[in-house]
Amino acid sequence: MPLSLYNTMSRSLERFQPINDEEVGLYTCGPTVYNYAHIGNLRTFLFEDLLKRTLIHLGYKVKHVMNITDVGHLTGDGDEGEDKLEKMAQKTKKTVWDIADFYTNAFFSDYGQLGMLAPTITCKATDHIPQMIDLILRLEKGGHTYVSGGNVYFSIDSIPDYGKLARLDLESLRTAVRDDVDQDSNKKNSKDFVLWFTKSKFGEQSMMWDSPWGRGFPGWHIECSAMSMHYLGEQFDIHCGGIDAIPVHHTNEIAQSEAATGKTWVNYWVHGEFLLDETGKMSKSKGEFLTLELLKKKGYDPMDYRYFCLGGHYRSQLKFSFDSLTTAKTARKNVCDRIVALKREGAQVKALESEKALSYQAAFDEHIQNDLNTPRALADLWGVLKDDGLSIDEKYSLALLFDEVFGLGLATLQVPVIETIDDPTALDLLKKRTEAKLAKDWAEADSIRQQLDALGYLVKDTASGPSLEKKM
Ligand code: AMP
Ligand code: ZN
Repeated sequence: MPLSLYNTMSRSLERFQPINDEEVGLYTCGPTVYNYAHIGNLRTFLFEDLLKRTLIHLGYKVKHVMNITDVGHLTGDGDEGEDKLEKMAQKTKKTVWDIADFYTNAFFSDYGQLGMLAPTITCKATDHIPQMIDLILRLEKGGHTYVSGGNVYFSIDSIPDYGKLARLDLESLRTAVRDDVDQDSNKKNSKDFVLWFTKSKFGEQSMMWDSPWGRGFPGWHIECSAMSMHYLGEQFDIHCGGIDAIPVHHTNEIAQSEAATGKTWVNYWVHGEFLLDETGKMSKSKGEFLTLELLKKKGYDPMDYRYFCLGGHYRSQLKFSFDSLTTAKTARKNVCDRIVALKREGAQVKALESEKALSYQAAFDEHIQNDLNTPRALADLWGVLKDDGLSIDEKYSLALLFDEVFGLGLATLQVPVIETIDDPTALDLLKKRTEAKLAKDWAEADSIRQQLDALGYLVKDTASGPSLEKKM
């Protein structure tokens, strides 16, 4: 079964067909590094990692480019407000460069702890100003820009299909009352957007570069167009982000990229739905600021959050609560316990042969290829782990195969140090206790624990399985 993905552009599931069979070009809008990522942001990056892992699992080579927005992202997506980094720098009395470095490092620390595969290329906006200037020059030559009040604007009326991704109704937008308090009076059309700022209306701007239009800094949207085309070419396969990027950021990226090249820019637009908190939309400025570090402080492993996200389809809103994270934690621990038990029994990765094992593999592939249906794919994993008609090698091999997509790190789980205890009776009892627990025979498991206690051993249940310690 081929991979099908929901393309926001067509609002339908489409069979994925890369431009080049050898390598898929994937661009994911990266973080704006003015603060820690909240777990909602991380949900979007996790869905993108899932997509990339699925492509790799299906045999594609993936060239993944992710930008770091370290300049130009204003507090409002439509050119309103202040530069997010400048604002944080002023608040903390640090330089913008220090802010960007600090939060870029924090972001990649979260990224690694959540088991996300590093992008092939990570690119900072501030390292690509010449590419942005070149692209603006190209747009200027094509008659798509105007200078007003010192800034260079993209004119949305210079192209026939502005807003096609978001299916914006331009007529009503044109006649709409301009009620935005921060409305930029330099614009000919309220949806025109800035490509290059020279006159910062937001006070002192410390990141500035020379340009044909004067010293200044780029708009946010031009960053992604310039960097993605620089690394992936003028046409590439997949562009991702959170759904909030559809109406402004991605709409503007498409407008300027396609105006510059005259070609369709990206073939598949794939967007992840939001993570909601108890109060609704998650934000960095209201309520408890939910970061990965906060989850860790409360006793969760980053992988518990990864497992939690896999439990919801990426195109459905997901409601976060500590209760549901605890449920995910327990479920993940059960998966890990079972994998360690299989390893302890000597399970090996082998080629799948039996009809039963192959049918599990086929079901998993069908679910994951159907627009990344992780809830169904997780149910397949549980089916495998609980099916006693499979050999231990088959269970282990299937689980590790599925984990190429889930990314829960199952292959690296270690059997705890009980092997250093060289007491066959105790080890045999521990094995029986694990079996009793898997069979949910709690009375038997308790009774074995007591027998071990009487022999002088303490049983501890860890995230990667039970361990045995000699009592002092
Ligand atoms: P930012 O660092 O603010 O540019 O955001 C990084 C990514 O997080 C973007 O792709 C946003 O679309 C996404 N995002 C923002 N809020 C949420 C949320 N509550 N749930 C899921 N993704 C989000
Ligand atoms: Zn972007």
